[in-house]
Amino acid sequence: MKDAVKSHKKHEDNTHAVCKKMQGLIPRYLSGSLTLHEAREFTEHLKNCSVCRDEIEISYLLEEGITRAENGETIDLHTDLEDMLNETEDTIQYLTQYNTAVHLFEGTAVFVLCACAFLLFMI
Ligand SMILES: [Zn+2]
Repeated sequence: MKDAVKSHKKHEDNTHAVCKKMQGLIPRYLSGSLTLHEAREFTEHLKNCSVCRDEIEISYLLEEGITRAENGETIDLHTDLEDMLNETEDTIQYLTQYNTAVHLFEGTAVFVLCACAFLLFMI
């Protein structure tokens, strides 16, 4: 029983640590300066964490909402954020595919070089 409580507590601490880390990324997410790896972690986490979603909504509202209010534009916070996260996911997917392609290409290039070296050696 004691152990169960302990492990539950540990789990909560972990969750909290992750949330803290993710919330620390929010300003950089909004300014679009996360790395691919960070952005992937960030969007994955936000899909499952309402606490961090609330956090980003507040930050987004502060950042975007004020500018838009000044321009007399209305803001649909929920849809806007949803769009932004979906867009990020698309970008991540695209970049991941691109990275894989580059790696494949590099792999092929190295293989061709080795094959050439081997052929030269044989001659
Ligand atoms: Zn979280």
